[in-house]
Amino acid sequence: MNFDLTPEQDQLRDAVRALGRRYGHSYFVGKAKSGGHTTELWDEAGRLGYLGVNVPTEYGGGGGGLTELAIVCEELAAAGCPLLLLVVSPAIAATVINRHGTEEQRKRFLPGFADGSLKVVFAITEPEAGSNFHRLGTVARRDGDDWLLSGRKCYISGVDEAQYVLVVARTEDATTGKLKPALFVVPTDATGLTRSRLDMEIVSPENQFLLYLDDVRLPADALVGGSLDAGLPALFAGLNPERITVAAMGVGTGRYAIERATDYTATRRVWGGRSIGAHQGVAHPLAHAAVQVELARLMIYKAATLYDAGRDLEAGVSGNMAKYTAGEAAALAVDTAVQALGGAGMTTEYGVATLLGAVRAGRIAPVSREMILNFVAQHVLGQEKSY
Ligand SMILES: Cc1cc2nc3c(=O)[nH]c(=O)nc-3n(C[C@H](O)[C@H](O)[C@H](O)COP(=O)(O)OP(=O)(O)OC[C@H]3O[C@@H](n4cnc5c(N)ncnc54)[C@H](O)[C@@H]3O)c2cc1C
Repeated sequence: MNFDLTPEQDQLRDAVRALGRRYGHSYFVGKAKSGGHTTELWDEAGRLGYLGVNVPTEYGGGGGGLTELAIVCEELAAAGCPLLLLVVSPAIAATVINRHGTEEQRKRFLPGFADGSLKVVFAITEPEAGSNFHRLGTVARRDGDDWLLSGRKCYISGVDEAQYVLVVARTEDATTGKLKPALFVVPTDATGLTRSRLDMEIVSPENQFLLYLDDVRLPADALVGGSLDAGLPALFAGLNPERITVAAMGVGTGRYAIERATDYTATRRVWGGRSIGAHQGVAHPLAHAAVQVELARLMIYKAATLYDAGRDLEAGVSGNMAKYTAGEAAALAVDTAVQALGGAGMTTEYGVATLLGAVRAGRIAPVSREMILNFVAQHVLGQEKSY
């Protein structure tokens, strides 16, 4: 058993940390509040190769694994820049295309993922289906060689920043008549694809959208993997990267909040000469949150290591547990930090309450804590499926 990062991973961590700190949380919040995007940070991270760490070298990437991508997500979040698009574009979309795309799709898309010039967002959630993807109502119909996509998606992040959206639809298997999932790479400016921005209570430069697909016409090569049999494995291929990187973002956010709070509590003095951090009522909740964050972090790197070793099923269990613990730990850490800072905790200047919405959302999305507990109850504890 080895809990150490390799020297290369350590170097990556230090380099990403330095980049994140050059931008910092005030940059992130400034973009969010002015309706901007973190384009400069994204582009620089792309140029430095951090967004393509998990893309194979033959397509211009770093040739690393999910562990490296988790390091990037964690360190940017620990610098106060939790970039949700890291989860949807390099983690989900690049993995799906790398593992299940055709060679032509790999050649076309992976170089853009490698340098960050390509952003592909991910659309599975629908208003009626919610957590139950078996009820997806977005359908793909054949029209000659083309496909026609129709349906509705909700809460889709980053559509305004992306060139493509990876849409999960369903289509009829000609032999069995059964509906099967199928993934399509849809240009965000395709005719028939419209969007409206949702007002969310999250301070983030990344926005969520309702998407309407009205007979969006796509060429045959928009189907990921080029075959209907590729749909289900392609969909599952995105799950572990999604859970593990979103967990890494949560842990990074938790670390950031605890650091802000402990810097403050170590120096703030309101009762004579002692700092408020000397009071156990202030220090213990922070110490408790730090323990929870570190536990989540261990589970993330266990899951990423299993995933990079090709042990997908075990990574699925650990990845779900990592996502659950990281979601809870991040929410706890931010809330505890706000409390420890008192009034300052609620100001924009101290940069902690600005994360309340994001960490709260992390207990719901991309998979809710309840759905993870369902998974663990069923697959780890052997309980009957409840739904
Ligand atoms: C900030 C943000 C960004 C997002 N970005 C994206 C994106 O980019 N792409 C995308 O496709 N989606 C995205 N989503 C959607 C997200 O994945 C869903 O909100 C999430 O999966 C939950 O689905 P739902 O909102 O329909 O909740 P519902 O399925 O309606 O569930 C509501 C509540 O009931 C609980 N529940 C439902 N079924 C069960 C059950 N069987 N047992 C126990 N509890 C249950 C849920 O846990 C939840 O608490 C985003 C959401 C947010 C908030």
